[in-house]
Amino acid sequence: MTAGNEAQGVRWDLSDLYSGPDDPQLEADLSAVLAEAQSFEKKFRGRIQIAGGPPPGLVAEAVAEMERIIERLGKACAFADLLHASDVTPPAHGALVARTQEQASAVRQSLLFLELEWLALSDADVEPALNDPACARYRHFLRSMRRYRPHVLSEPEEKILEEKANTGTRAFTRLFDEVLSSLTFAVEVDGTTQQLNESEILNLMRDDKRAVRQAASDALTRGLRANELLLGFIFNTLVQDHSIDDRLRKYGDPMQARHLANEISGQTVAALMQACEARHDLVQRYYGLKRRLLGLQELADYDRYAPISQEPDAVPWARGRELVLAAYDAFSPRIREIAELFFTRRWIDAEARNGKRGGAFSASTVPSLHPYVLLNYTGRMYDVMTVAHELGHGVHQYLSRQQGYLQADTPLTTAETASVFGEMLVFEHLLREVAEPKQRLALLCNKIEDTIATVFRQICLTRFEQKLHQARREQGELSRESICDLWQSANAALYGDTVRLTDNYRWWWTYIPHFIHTPFYCYAYGFGELLVLALYETYRREGAAFVPRYLDLLAAGGSDTPENLLRPLGIDVNSPGFWQLGLEPFRKMVEEAERLAG
Ligand SMILES: [Zn+2]
Repeated sequence: MTAGNEAQGVRWDLSDLYSGPDDPQLEADLSAVLAEAQSFEKKFRGRIQIAGGPPPGLVAEAVAEMERIIERLGKACAFADLLHASDVTPPAHGALVARTQEQASAVRQSLLFLELEWLALSDADVEPALNDPACARYRHFLRSMRRYRPHVLSEPEEKILEEKANTGTRAFTRLFDEVLSSLTFAVEVDGTTQQLNESEILNLMRDDKRAVRQAASDALTRGLRANELLLGFIFNTLVQDHSIDDRLRKYGDPMQARHLANEISGQTVAALMQACEARHDLVQRYYGLKRRLLGLQELADYDRYAPISQEPDAVPWARGRELVLAAYDAFSPRIREIAELFFTRRWIDAEARNGKRGGAFSASTVPSLHPYVLLNYTGRMYDVMTVAHELGHGVHQYLSRQQGYLQADTPLTTAETASVFGEMLVFEHLLREVAEPKQRLALLCNKIEDTIATVFRQICLTRFEQKLHQARREQGELSRESICDLWQSANAALYGDTVRLTDNYRWWWTYIPHFIHTPFYCYAYGFGELLVLALYETYRREGAAFVPRYLDLLAAGGSDTPENLLRPLGIDVNSPGFWQLGLEPFRKMVEEAERLAG
């Protein structure tokens, strides 16, 4: 199998973090950080929660010191995670992840009092600090922390939950990652049986030969079902854990904790989901068109990603890189410059190889350093879009470092802004280069499919997850078959009768990492994509004047709520018409594709 070799040898250099798992500095940091956290606790405990509120200068000093401690810890944790992601097989890598997680827990235990004391204060008692210039840098952090006020438990309770999570949720999450990363799928291609990893087998679903896609679907399902007991158990356990958390922390519904973390209201998300579900007709129209273009009697689930036209030759790594950088450059030379650093300074691990984590991500690490990007580049146009996507994250994380560890990260809802915007730039760049109608149609279909995957499918996954959590609460532990039923019916609502969902498809909830890592993550993709479609419309109208405001948005990181940060760009996420604004360009794309197809 040659897939995966296009980026052979492109591996990241993690030495900006540590020289290796045996670097003495790593152990030194891990030990020192705990001592620092303990002396921090000695110094500040009991001085925040005081009658009349703490002096603003003291609050600022405490937060700054805490930020230094968790940044030092974050560096060690980031290294362990990246090392583990680059190869999950050596026991030393797993052991290091466990070691950093344990140390992180111990550190968090010592720091916990600060948040609890801050939350215990009345609104009137925190006002002086919130309005004092000394706390200006941390204002949003201090203010937004208080939104958890109704949901925190007592300090001893929080400590127990924190420590037990290492053998609870975190352990199950790691088990899931390790099982998925070590799975191989036996598939026969051109007469020979090959053992493929998850990324490679999913890639075969994009093959132009239907028999190959079908074989890949069978092989994927066989591999997953060989582990269905284990995967089903992990799902059930984590869904149950979520409901225990919600009960203990008094969250009214399974999504409320995520909405709070996302700094978005449940009503806004409900409106987003309904707006998308009301346009399933567009999705179904597209798949009707796709069936005709492929010349098939019916479209099965494994045909959804079939190429419309002959896939052009593999895009070599160097060409993919140039495409993305050129598209970024046309929008903003500054963004190109930052994106280029990932390649020249080896902040990127692009080759697909066994033992490496599947998929792609950008890890922000710590503000004093820089992000790292992981890809599994196999040379398809889809992979080029993934490069654009992850570098978008990378640029965003790079620019927002100036906000410091506590305020650099955005909530999930806006975390996908720069990544999806980056994909949009590459799409428009390619569209400018191509005049031939057939090629334009192919490009357009790719973009439509991408939007379906990022908006409609993610909303569908969220709906499934919502039903899953609800069913667990009402019925107790769920059989694997009943999870399959929930999955199938949520998907049937999206695809209608334009896509036949096979019995294989029933099992494909088992490998989706978001359900495991971050429940209800998926709607943030839909939010992000529609937001970007709206932002891109603004850019089309305003041209160059838009660029500096966009850069400001990225550099602002998580220093304010999404609502406030987006306002200068003319976006109001709470207005009901906003989602329509994002769906409108999608409708035009589907109509344009129908027109080009004749
Ligand atoms: Zn992303």
